Amino acid sequence: MSKKIESFLNLFFPSRCVLCDRVVKGKKSVCSECYEKLTFLSDERTCKKCSHPISEGAVLCDACLVHQHYFTANFAAAVYKKELREAIIKYKFYKRPDLHRGLAGLILMRLAKFDLLPKFDAVIGVPLSEKRLEERGYEQAVLLAKVVAEELGVKLLKRCIKKIKDVPAQSKLSYANRQKNLRGVFKVINPEKVKGKVILLIDDIYTTGATVDEIAKILLEAGAKEIYVATVALTELES
Ligand SMILES: [Zn+2]
Ligand SMILES: [Zn+2]
Repeated sequence: MSKKIESFLNLFFPSRCVLCDRVVKGKKSVCSECYEKLTFLSDERTCKKCSHPISEGAVLCDACLVHQHYFTANFAAAVYKKELREAIIKYKFYKRPDLHRGLAGLILMRLAKFDLLPKFDAVIGVPLSEKRLEERGYEQAVLLAKVVAEELGVKLLKRCIKKIKDVPAQSKLSYANRQKNLRGVFKVINPEKVKGKVILLIDDIYTTGATVDEIAKILLEAGAKEIYVATVALTELES
């Protein structure tokens, strides 16, 4: 985009802080005040596998010590609480698809912290079922994935995975039961598109990782080489 067009767009469509809606300069996702309020996981000591904060000396969190994951690592931007939680709820449940760019910006900030990021061949967003998509009007993780793919200069694989059915709320289930519940929920539609590829899978929130792990599993079964995950937020482990 030419500088002229860019400054024209900035004038009429200025970037806004995704948390408080204040106008921010440049392509920033959050204003300096909100930046201070977020708990960025890049600043914390985190689990090498899933990004959950861990105590000193540990490499993996308790959950990852118990359950093996199919994905190689999850890069989560910040802890799912307060302002970020409110922004994600607005984004998902209050028809605010416009927040996707700012939220994707948080994922990009997290990825930018790595000196040696894996070389991704493709980006995929966790899909919604047809029924849920009809209700919501947009797929929140796919919109995030679109921005991440654009900014990383990596191909976005659209409609590559299908969510065949919805599962009942998972929050009260154990990890093993969540995994069982998710079996057969997703399907790889175009296995030839994922064969041999290193894939970055995008979702909004990482809780136990059961959903992204199920998708990682079917992508690997379809011939993908390696799966990484990146999420905007990570829920705190119950202690
Ligand atoms: Zn703000
Ligand atoms: Zn972990």
